[in-house]
Amino acid sequence: MCEFCTKHGDGQVWYKNAKNFSGDLVSDLRRRGYIERFVKDTIQEGFVTLGRLEALVQKKGALPDRVRVGMQEKARQEHFGQVLPMEEIRELVRKAETVVRMPCACRWAMGKGEVRACYGISIGPEQWYRHIDMSSFGPLPDEGLESVDREEAIRQMEHLEEHGAVHTIWTMMTPFIGAICNCTLDDCLAMRTLSGIKVETMARAEFVAAVDEEQCIGCGQCAAQCQFKAIGEREDSGSHYAVIDAHACYGCGLCRNSCPAGAIALICR
Ligand code: SF4
Ligand code: SF4
Repeated sequence: MCEFCTKHGDGQVWYKNAKNFSGDLVSDLRRRGYIERFVKDTIQEGFVTLGRLEALVQKKGALPDRVRVGMQEKARQEHFGQVLPMEEIRELVRKAETVVRMPCACRWAMGKGEVRACYGISIGPEQWYRHIDMSSFGPLPDEGLESVDREEAIRQMEHLEEHGAVHTIWTMMTPFIGAICNCTLDDCLAMRTLSGIKVETMARAEFVAAVDEEQCIGCGQCAAQCQFKAIGEREDSGSHYAVIDAHACYGCGLCRNSCPAGAIALICR
């Protein structure tokens, strides 16, 4: 069980604990302020800071440990994510009372325009996303909070996955959970933070990919899909097999989708 489950799971996986979606948490005034300023402070300012830190890492090779650990701790307290495979997304979204599709603040901050790839979910009557100041996105017809039917939201996220998106779930001042994002390395500040400056602002899924060598034909398609560089290969008597580094694997399941031989499964980490 991960640190988050121990602290916030009440004996289960933290993102399945109904308490972490509760209206009581949203009524906390500090959290409300955080949610209100989220797009402007966390994402837009975060984008500028990330650019500076990436330049520093390019020059010095790595961030000072003190800075890296401090950033990780701040993320854990405020806005921390975890990768979820599609089966977990289906389970969560089907429990939600309301779902809205929102513009992705990371893509917006990177100048990629309004791409609706983030979902606010409420399990209960309190619709936390109503407190976000959406004015940074400019005038939007539905204030950027487009109501979506649960099954339609699942279909949309399946479609995003087919186009290479990794699903992640996020706290809005931990442990409150509100949003599901659908990210790629090119579009997501958290994934860029992870790969570029080695600061972990999101956790691996509760699952890890495993290859059945009896079925693997060594085509390499899985490695081409993996955005976490977790797949290598080994050769044995002229045959090639995919090899997954369980520590590098974030459990997104994209390799599983790409395997023509059905040789990859997600198993419990
Ligand atoms: S190995 Fe597969 S499940 Fe693991 S991170 Fe890469 S694509 Fe995702
Ligand atoms: S995609 Fe499937 S068959 Fe191809 S190398 Fe990966 S595990 Fe093996």
